[in-house]
Amino acid sequence: MPIPSLVTLTEEQQMIVSEVRRFVEKEVMPVATELEHADEYPTDLVEQLKGLGMFGATIPQEYGGLDLPFTTYAAIVEELSRGWMSLGGILNTHTMISWMIKTYGSEEMKSRLLPNMATGERRCALCMTEPDAGSDLQAIQTKAVRDGDDYLLNGNKMWVSNGVHAKIFAVLTKTDLQAQPRYKGMSVFIVEKETTTGMTVGRILEKLGYKGIDTTELAFEDARVPAASLLGGEEGQGWLQIMSTIEIGRVNVASRAVGVATAAFEDAIKYAKQRETFGQPIANHQAIQLMLAEMATKIEAARLLARAAAAKKDAGERADMWAGMAKLFCSETAQEVTLQAMRIHGGYGYSKELRVERYYRDAPFMLIGEGTNEIQKLVIARNLLKMYGD
Ligand SMILES: Cc1cc2nc3c(=O)[nH]c(=O)nc-3n(C[C@H](O)[C@H](O)[C@H](O)COP(=O)(O)OP(=O)(O)OC[C@H]3O[C@@H](n4cnc5c(N)ncnc54)[C@H](O)[C@@H]3O)c2cc1C
Repeated sequence: MPIPSLVTLTEEQQMIVSEVRRFVEKEVMPVATELEHADEYPTDLVEQLKGLGMFGATIPQEYGGLDLPFTTYAAIVEELSRGWMSLGGILNTHTMISWMIKTYGSEEMKSRLLPNMATGERRCALCMTEPDAGSDLQAIQTKAVRDGDDYLLNGNKMWVSNGVHAKIFAVLTKTDLQAQPRYKGMSVFIVEKETTTGMTVGRILEKLGYKGIDTTELAFEDARVPAASLLGGEEGQGWLQIMSTIEIGRVNVASRAVGVATAAFEDAIKYAKQRETFGQPIANHQAIQLMLAEMATKIEAARLLARAAAAKKDAGERADMWAGMAKLFCSETAQEVTLQAMRIHGGYGYSKELRVERYYRDAPFMLIGEGTNEIQKLVIARNLLKMYGD
């Protein structure tokens, strides 16, 4: 039974969430631990996600998508991650790039790419980070230089989620390495892997958790892309495009964190009612009750914040402060709750036979992905200082 929540859902949202929950309980939960331990890409589950229309969740209906609001998307990501956090990651960069193309792409780009993206046939990866530039994203060195009707891309990208299985890549580049401020020299290219020579998917990176999903290096060596793949058709727009898109990634990570924390809580409360010490269930001990109360309270606060940030994005406003707050609070909550769930399980919590160790290994990714929590605090503080003016 799901934890009762203060979040109100419309009838349509309830229907969608119930369908996703059924899929998670019937198809995901029985196989997630095995796939995760084997670090195996969930091909069958991805096929089923395609069938559910999840890759087109936020794509407009005219391009074959479901055109759902981000509040519904957040609820979907939470449900999926309650089964396995990696599924939320397979949707994440895809959904971000769908929005990016919908918002900034030419009509030709939208009508050519979005329909195949909506079915999930062509999935997407986002390439911002480089070996020497993560938090300081304006320090990237990947260059895009105009060459006749094309651009030539050169540089190396790092930590590309979905690097192997994606076919469409949004690549953050510098079209002017000397520009000041640096962001003015940044541009995004929508690169199609099947037709781009000089683009090589490199090493698959081994990770502590967040397994099953491919995370790779990527190299561009004189990779030739048509000038029409410059997003927005004008150089220097990349920073704004990326920063407005990353808010969706932060809502996704916040919702994933709520899903993982919920799963950890549910396992912990069930276990606390079964496990006996000193002649009674451990749930009767006040120390355990205090942990359960704290866990559930923080999870609910996190859920409300994640949905509120999604609603801001739905309203068409910049949501960087709210998405930053949601990502920060939800991921810190998941980190705390998964550790508390492990404590409640005692020695068994440390065993690979129970799911709680997976939640504990998955949670730290969310402190880092879509910008570390230190960076979220800087974003929040910058907004607050601006709001409070002189
Ligand atoms: C599993 C995984 C998947 C990922 N997927 C993608 C992806 O699909 N696409 C993509 O582009 N990137 C992806 N990333 C990269 C991720 O966004 C970066 O790792 C993250 O932004 C941090 O950058 P960094 O690793 O270079 O750390 P650094 O920037 O080197 O930071 C190191 C430490 O210094 C702190 N720090 C840095 N600057 C400051 C400051 N000004 N004030 C205070 N503290 C600071 C950071 O918070 C951190 O604690 C992924 C990362 C992981 C681990």
